[in-house]
Amino acid sequence: MIDIKNISKWYGSFQVLTDCTTTIKKGEVVVVCGPSGSGKSTLIKTVNALEPFQKGDIVVDGISLSDPKTNLPKLRSRVGMVFQHFELFPHLSVTENLTLAQIKVLGRSKDDAIVRGLKMLERVGLSAHKDKFPGQLSGGQQQRVAIARALSMDPMVMLFDEPTSALDPEMVGEVLDVMVKLAEEGMTMMCVTHEMGFAKKVSNRVIFMDAGKIIEDCNKDSFFGNADERSPRAKDFLSKIL
Ligand code: ATP
Ligand code: MG
Repeated sequence: MIDIKNISKWYGSFQVLTDCTTTIKKGEVVVVCGPSGSGKSTLIKTVNALEPFQKGDIVVDGISLSDPKTNLPKLRSRVGMVFQHFELFPHLSVTENLTLAQIKVLGRSKDDAIVRGLKMLERVGLSAHKDKFPGQLSGGQQQRVAIARALSMDPMVMLFDEPTSALDPEMVGEVLDVMVKLAEEGMTMMCVTHEMGFAKKVSNRVIFMDAGKIIEDCNKDSFFGNADERSPRAKDFLSKIL
């Protein structure tokens, strides 16, 4: 589904990613973790072409991002992305937030977009809030709307960049519950998160990054299991967050 092949990226003269390679198969849930500044956000943003890279290639569902003939906006519309800050449009109602891109980008009729959007709103448990504005919702609810909005676009994969790290602690659970449900329903997911409970529960693999490199890429049982086989950096990182 996603083939990341020997990606290197520079911001000016600063090399932020060095020779990163991994594959995410259909239905897999992969958690990306690592210290601040290790390149997690940059890596995930290269996958939906929000950040260009200078070396290597990424192939999403058979389509190469480095091929100049690739229609990047079209590809991006099929890759759902949820950020740390919910980034809903504050001046639009929940329903309008859910339908805007479906209408503008996918060319759906307003009626079809509303049907699809409300179905996804139900999936995240917020049907009762369809006419509210983002400012009238809690942070956790706004993040669930952001997930519903991404799902309304029928994504083939969902990318999450620390979706719970800006939330008050009591709201983290409701967002993770939605993510767990998505994972259990078979959605392909790449999630930057330090929620190791989530990683242990539903992930298939854990990628550990440090200083722009993928240091570990292994199934979750070996990542959380045998500390002896873990790299010193990953060990140190885990000891700080677990
Ligand atoms: P965090 O856990 O704090 O979110 P991260 O692992 O997501 O960190 P990135 O945001 O990918 O890390 O940043 C990786 C490195 O690239 C950092 O050193 C950062 O300062 C640098 N960087 C990020 N964005 C830019 C930019 N637009 N221009 C220059 N340097 C950048
Ligand atoms: Mg980040």
